[in-house]
Amino acid sequence: MTVTGPAPTPAAGDATPGGPDVVVVGAGVAGLVVARDLAARGRRVLVLERADRPGGCVASVQVAGLTVDAGAESFATRSSVVPDLLAELGLADDVVPPSPAGAWLQLPDRAVPLPKAGMLGIPGSPWAADVRAAVGVVGALRASLDRVLPGRVGLAAEGDRPAPEGDRPGTSLGRLVRLRQGRRVLDRLVTPVVAGVHATHPDDADLDVVLPGLRERMLGRGSLGAAVSAMRAAAPAGSAVAGLRGGMHRLVRALVADATRHGVELRTGVAVTALSRDDGGWRLAVEHVGAGQEDVAPGAGGPDGDGLPDILTPQVVLATPGPVTLRLLGDLLPAAVGPAAAAPADTGVELVTLLLDAPELDAAPRGTGVLVAPGTPDVTAKALTHATAKWAWLAQAAGPGRHVVRLSYGGARGTGGLDEDAPLATALADAAALLGVPLRAEQVVGWTRVPWPAGLPQVRPGHRDRARAVRRALEERPGLAACGAWLAGTGLVAVVGDARALAARF
Ligand SMILES: Cc1cc2nc3c(=O)[nH]c(=O)nc-3n(C[C@H](O)[C@H](O)[C@H](O)COP(=O)(O)OP(=O)(O)OC[C@H]3O[C@@H](n4cnc5c(N)ncnc54)[C@H](O)[C@@H]3O)c2cc1C
Repeated sequence: MTVTGPAPTPAAGDATPGGPDVVVVGAGVAGLVVARDLAARGRRVLVLERADRPGGCVASVQVAGLTVDAGAESFATRSSVVPDLLAELGLADDVVPPSPAGAWLQLPDRAVPLPKAGMLGIPGSPWAADVRAAVGVVGALRASLDRVLPGRVGLAAEGDRPAPEGDRPGTSLGRLVRLRQGRRVLDRLVTPVVAGVHATHPDDADLDVVLPGLRERMLGRGSLGAAVSAMRAAAPAGSAVAGLRGGMHRLVRALVADATRHGVELRTGVAVTALSRDDGGWRLAVEHVGAGQEDVAPGAGGPDGDGLPDILTPQVVLATPGPVTLRLLGDLLPAAVGPAAAAPADTGVELVTLLLDAPELDAAPRGTGVLVAPGTPDVTAKALTHATAKWAWLAQAAGPGRHVVRLSYGGARGTGGLDEDAPLATALADAAALLGVPLRAEQVVGWTRVPWPAGLPQVRPGHRDRARAVRRALEERPGLAACGAWLAGTGLVAVVGDARALAARF
């Protein structure tokens, strides 16, 4: 991939021989994977990226000279999609498991190890000792009701609250858990996990997006717990996630390098601002986004840059976040699935990474990290990753007694944001509270704060049906396609699998 800045930009008319035959908008993992796969099939591909770097939510950041992941840091091992891609990119030998220590839950009254045999915090068996430790005997007893309720209870296609304007009905994960396993399981197990993984509350999560296949299993097996246990049993043995030695951001570098080999051209600092039908192809209005107009995190809003000549192309893949894609599609979508009906409001999150000189953390007091239950007093963060306890390569890179701790803020409703006046002090106090170890300001070797204003798409009840409607509408538009987390589901497995499938059929 030739990585260039905005100039020279092809003038309108580049759909003629010699110009790109596909333009991919957005160089997150979805866009890069589509671009690489299409180019490997012999297509001439141009990628336009608004930010000054490719990768989207997969990025790196420096903390006192140490390179760490600024966004995604692992991938789920439930499918071979990501390992297959990494193998094609020559990274198979660098796939590493996390420490088996596991994560913890910070409950309002105590910290406990995260129960092992669940999915998104939903326990397979409410009487497992680690589940009982989190929800108590009363909670386990209530959760047992799940086994005697008919399988369809909780699966009705309606939320437990009026759907926000324009939303279609869908099954809310929160409602399902509350009805079947009770409030204690919801508040103390499922809510902290869903907030950590999807940056949302389970009430705002579409069951069929965050746990695809669970509905079908429930109808077959009769209970939520049995369905969760069956899904766990079907998952590959070993750890549920894996990472890359050196950090997940290496995936972006490798994708860019391989795409280059296949002739893909990438222009960074170029935002697509409008899309229209033109003479059998597509016209893209583009603008140059200057340095300083773009943070490390991709913005969802419109750019504020200099106009460049339009680009004409026979085919376009929109691999941008949901709100951007829907804005670009505009009237090209029927009103029923157009922006007003379908716009997913993305959930902003913010990460603070601390590099600490703290040998007292060598014992990894909370395993690989902590998920925080709502109502936990004196803690603002919703999750903490003890990155050096989780990844052996990072512990080695940090050096003896040094620890990387990553805290996340915002996202789910009801979770607080970072204190603007004292972000470091808030993060340090949260780290000390969650790790159960006093930490002083002098122990901070370095720290960094990365906002992800458009990072995680909201997957409100009805999202799956909305996404399907958008896909169906796009099928009626030859030469136009869309991909990315808002359509495929959050996470590298969903995004990579969907992007590869799109490239294979486009
Ligand atoms: C903080 C954080 C941690 C995460 N951790 C994990 C994890 O550990 N494991 C995991 O599997 N997943 C994780 N995820 C989720 C995962 O990273 C995402 O689901 C995935 O990377 C999304 O890829 P994408 O290509 O769909 O979107 P994005 O990465 O959002 O890429 C979209 C791209 O489009 C560009 N763009 C936007 N507007 C325009 C425009 N007008 N013109 C041109 N370009 C434009 C953006 O700049 C961006 O580069 C995490 C996400 C975040 C935010």
